[in-house]
Amino acid sequence: MSATATEPALEFPKQRRLFIGGQWVEAIGGGHLDVINPADESVITAVAHGRRADADRAVAEAVKTFPTWKSLTAYDRAKILKKTAEIIRERADALARTMTMEQGKPVPEARAEVMQTADTFEWFAEEAKRSYGRIIPNSVMNKRHMAISHPVGVVGTITPWNFPMALASRKIAPALAVGCTVVSRPADQTPLSLIGLFECLEAAGLPAGVANLYIGSSREFADALFEEHAVRKISFTGSTEVGKELIRRSADHVKRMSMELGGHAPLIVFPDADVAQVAQAAVIGKFRNNGQVCISPSRFFIHEKIAKEFTEIAVEIARNLKMGNGLDAGTQVGPMFEAKAIAKAQELVDDARAHGASILTGGCRSSKFDKGFYYEPTVLGNVDKSMRILNEEPFAPVMPLLSFGSLEEVIAAANNTPYGLAAYVFTNDLTTATRMAEGLEAGIIGINDPVPATPQCPFGGMKESGLGRELGVEGLESYLETKYVSIGLRG
Ligand code: NAP
Repeated sequence: MSATATEPALEFPKQRRLFIGGQWVEAIGGGHLDVINPADESVITAVAHGRRADADRAVAEAVKTFPTWKSLTAYDRAKILKKTAEIIRERADALARTMTMEQGKPVPEARAEVMQTADTFEWFAEEAKRSYGRIIPNSVMNKRHMAISHPVGVVGTITPWNFPMALASRKIAPALAVGCTVVSRPADQTPLSLIGLFECLEAAGLPAGVANLYIGSSREFADALFEEHAVRKISFTGSTEVGKELIRRSADHVKRMSMELGGHAPLIVFPDADVAQVAQAAVIGKFRNNGQVCISPSRFFIHEKIAKEFTEIAVEIARNLKMGNGLDAGTQVGPMFEAKAIAKAQELVDDARAHGASILTGGCRSSKFDKGFYYEPTVLGNVDKSMRILNEEPFAPVMPLLSFGSLEEVIAAANNTPYGLAAYVFTNDLTTATRMAEGLEAGIIGINDPVPATPQCPFGGMKESGLGRELGVEGLESYLETKYVSIGLRG
């Protein structure tokens, strides 16, 4: 497959196949899937695409290698994971370009994701050395008690296309660090980024079968995970709808589940904030990765005293964002990831308009491009709760503006959703910041911080946005079982 004029040949990944038992292999049935560049709809390349038999093979390898991998010391496992981080950093430019080509985000955003992936591997490599147990004081003279940690077992990971490396690394790195073995599946739209990550694991010397990469049917993958008893945990990032289906299935096998699901984050601006600065941060936060971010702000509550000024500045900045192929220097907004994402954005905007919203900028597919999935950064005014955009997760470059009068009113409005992933507050008043942090129902709260995710801090949602936390010590513990050991002494 040849590269197009604007697309350099891919340096990494070199592979186009599944990685099972330490070998790059074709799918048993010979299946392939084209990977499409959303910037121009061209075929970048084709990758092997598996079915149930391939998923079973990958799971079997992870089951086979679990006893030896878990018996290594945390220090030995850490050497490989830290080496992986180093190799990711060495290959960062090539990996970032690959990600941009298959996912659409501008290269600087892709590079930041690659670097965060490296940081995640390094942090968990170190942190697993500190997964201490506990000595618990005894209440009977001749007994001793302790709690020790044990890896949960084989782990299956399922991740979406919007952050194809970072989201998988939040599962793979802690799982491997504590001694679990892994089978991972990327989204069909973005397999190359995860192939690239697996090439780094291979180059770092990860023993064969410890981490396996399956690309193929998602339902058959889920069947393979659920039906193999030795798979003890499934870690899923994706929509609340699919997450609920997987939670229901987990009941039959009592599998551990980590769920990173949808969000509908409020961004709240109080009148003491610097309006121009916050409007800039809000627009950049909103249109990062085209709003296709689980923690993307998607309901903007602006205090009525500053609503007019904020709106004027935000509209002006949004209108002037540079849209284009993410490979081109200076691009601030790339294409959306596929045609159906544009259709969904348009549906939500049309519904809002029909219910009385005003389109302050954007509101339609961009007419500047013959090919590719480009949607104009959109700002909506006169928004209210009758509109779908305030009730459904938008996952689109659309910024609905609302206003509020009091702290109590805005907390109630912000919490009025089944989601509880992220929330953002802009204020310089410590009391307001504290009351908001305590009152908002969200697992991640950025106070004057539009980009809060970092490897050492817990990430995850309340309510229907998820179960459990990734990253931080919580993200490590979720791959560990606690074993209580009670020792009766002689005499
Ligand atoms: P999705 O439809 O739930 O898909 C997510 C992944 O699951 C995809 O790889 C998909 O593959 C696979 N999948 C779908 N149905 C499945 C099933 N029955 N069994 C096993 N796997 C299945 O979500 P999406 O629309 O691609 O991704 C966007 C969603 O992810 C948004 O809701 C977003 O908020 C959420 N998200 C959450 C976080 C977080 O950390 N909380 C982070 C990023 C994204 P196929 O499509 O090929 O079937």
